[in-house]
Amino acid sequence: MRRILLVGAGHAHLAVLRSFATMPVYGVRLTLVTPLAKQVYSGMLPGVIAGHYRLDDAQVDNEALCGRAFAEFSRGRVTRLDLQARRAQLEDGSALEYDAVSLNPGSLVEDSLPGAQRTLAVKPLDAFLGALDERKLGRVAIVGAGAAGAELAMALAYRDAAVTLYSDRPTPPGAAADSRSSTAGELVSGYVNATGVSVSAASGATSTTG
Ligand SMILES: Cc1cc2nc3c(=O)[nH]c(=O)nc-3n(C[C@H](O)[C@H](O)[C@H](O)COP(=O)(O)OP(=O)(O)OC[C@H]3O[C@@H](n4cnc5c(N)ncnc54)[C@H](O)[C@@H]3O)c2cc1C
Repeated sequence: MRRILLVGAGHAHLAVLRSFATMPVYGVRLTLVTPLAKQVYSGMLPGVIAGHYRLDDAQVDNEALCGRAFAEFSRGRVTRLDLQARRAQLEDGSALEYDAVSLNPGSLVEDSLPGAQRTLAVKPLDAFLGALDERKLGRVAIVGAGAAGAELAMALAYRDAAVTLYSDRPTPPGAAADSRSSTAGELVSGYVNATGVSVSAASGATSTTG
């Protein structure tokens, strides 16, 4: 029996689990290790913030998906891999042995900006959502005006926050960094303006205070 360990319930691993659910592979013992039994789906996060979706409807049930995929669900966070011994060390001190390991633990928000420790990072998404619920949304500054930043700005404005979206690029919010044709950016920009979000383009944040 070959033991395959999936670290993190990122998009790629969710697709792997879904394909195991429809087409099981015999002779393989699949394990998913990830911190949350249920996690919010990023594409629906702005809709949850705006109140268009209930959190329940926007969550991926990692544990249930494992059940359908005949995979073992292990709740935890991997802190170290011993590649020689083929062992993953977990935050709680336990370990998982494997024959093959696949990593999909996602990305973290760039935090080298001076003062970033005082800001709220959008990832991990569930921590962001929890922290947002505890805050009074008066004036909000969002650094980064890609598709996610633009969607978050509109969602927060929908909740009556006064939002300013800061971009280091001259392109409209939501436009791809390397795009010459800005059709998508112009469309998104129209919606962003309609929701009353202020856009500060070509003015990248260099630090945050307060
Ligand atoms: C507001 C917003 C809206 C977005 N909308 C879209 C969209 O509509 N379409 C789109 O394609 N993209 C969208 N994105 C981008 C999308 O979220 C990312 O591109 C995508 O999540 C990246 O997937 P990933 O598989 O790399 O990791 P993630 O989806 O971040 O998954 C990482 C997983 O690993 C787990 N994990 C982390 N550390 C560990 C560890 N040490 N041990 C074990 N598990 C760990 C996490 O809990 C999580 O389950 C959006 C992003 C944001 C912020």
